[in-house]
Amino acid sequence: MRFSIPLLKWYRQHKRDLPWRQTQDPYRILISEVMLQQTQVQTVIPYYHRFIKTFPSFKALANASEHAVLKLWEGLGYYSRARNLHKLAKKVCELHEENLPSNYEELISLPGIGRYTAGAILSIAFDKPFPLLDGNVQRVFARLYAIDDNLREPQTIQKLWTLSEELLDRQSPGDYNQALMELGATICIPKNPKCLICPIQRYCKAFATGQQNILPVKSKAKPIPHYHIGAGVIWKKGEILISQRPSKGLLGGLWEFAGGKQETGESITDCVQREIKEELGISVKVQSEIATVDHAYTHFKITLHAHECKYISGTPKTIGCQDWKWIKPHELRDYAFPSANQPIIEKILKDSLSQDKSVFFHS
Ligand code: SF4
Repeated sequence: MRFSIPLLKWYRQHKRDLPWRQTQDPYRILISEVMLQQTQVQTVIPYYHRFIKTFPSFKALANASEHAVLKLWEGLGYYSRARNLHKLAKKVCELHEENLPSNYEELISLPGIGRYTAGAILSIAFDKPFPLLDGNVQRVFARLYAIDDNLREPQTIQKLWTLSEELLDRQSPGDYNQALMELGATICIPKNPKCLICPIQRYCKAFATGQQNILPVKSKAKPIPHYHIGAGVIWKKGEILISQRPSKGLLGGLWEFAGGKQETGESITDCVQREIKEELGISVKVQSEIATVDHAYTHFKITLHAHECKYISGTPKTIGCQDWKWIKPHELRDYAFPSANQPIIEKILKDSLSQDKSVFFHS
């Protein structure tokens, strides 16, 4: 495709000095691509370095515990990515002699690998002619070809995949794919694209027709629900009860302070008491609210109301969780918690420095 020549020239002159751009090692490309899904480059960089240092190979990752993998992923969000990488490493060691397969069918059958990630790995790590399409590339193509179909429609995405396949530079697929993503991330940005310095401006139909600020078309997302969550920091003899979420589903395998969604007409303290009973089968006395945390997930928002609770009776059971533990406050840092729990942990650690909880909550 004609625009690929100036695009590649621009990319090779301007490419940012990112750690995963210094390598064609399939393992490192995989880790970076998975981390970069839904996550900003600057957020990913320190996580990438730590992950590669701790788990430098598929074997090292496969031999790690899920707990260690999740702990390293803590704060990056979308934890199914970490669990899938862990499963993938085990499969690669079992079935592929510790090497990522370089054909599409085998690659796509591995946990967590979709069409985008397979295209990225095959083109960047193996220099094979496979297209890719992420949000940045969708925007670039929609503007380049003045496509005004709604990006929320699956048929529009399919149309863009077809375009991505047709336009692929088969001589330099890895650099070409990275150049398109880089253009979308730095020049053809969502608002006020920098058309005046764009290397492919002369090929761009949106620029030629003055539509660069109205394309692509994306219908408004539905308003996302907002839930109030009651959670309990349960104390007994200077120790806190934490529970581990079931391994499947949102935040699977992470540890948390037991709790759940407030029901209509229910007070937040009743919610905490009920959720703890349902999740762990124990009775507690709910005391003061120690932290209120607002947090947004992809499809909903929450306000988390963390309450200090005094253990009253019952032996914890794994009714709504996969495990539970009584731990000392300073041990909280040894477990992987969701981001929304971090301000609660900070508060507990700060308070435990200034007073001995065992005096107040001795049971
Ligand atoms: Fe995007 Fe503007 Fe370049 Fe067109 S000219 S690809 S709208 S930055």
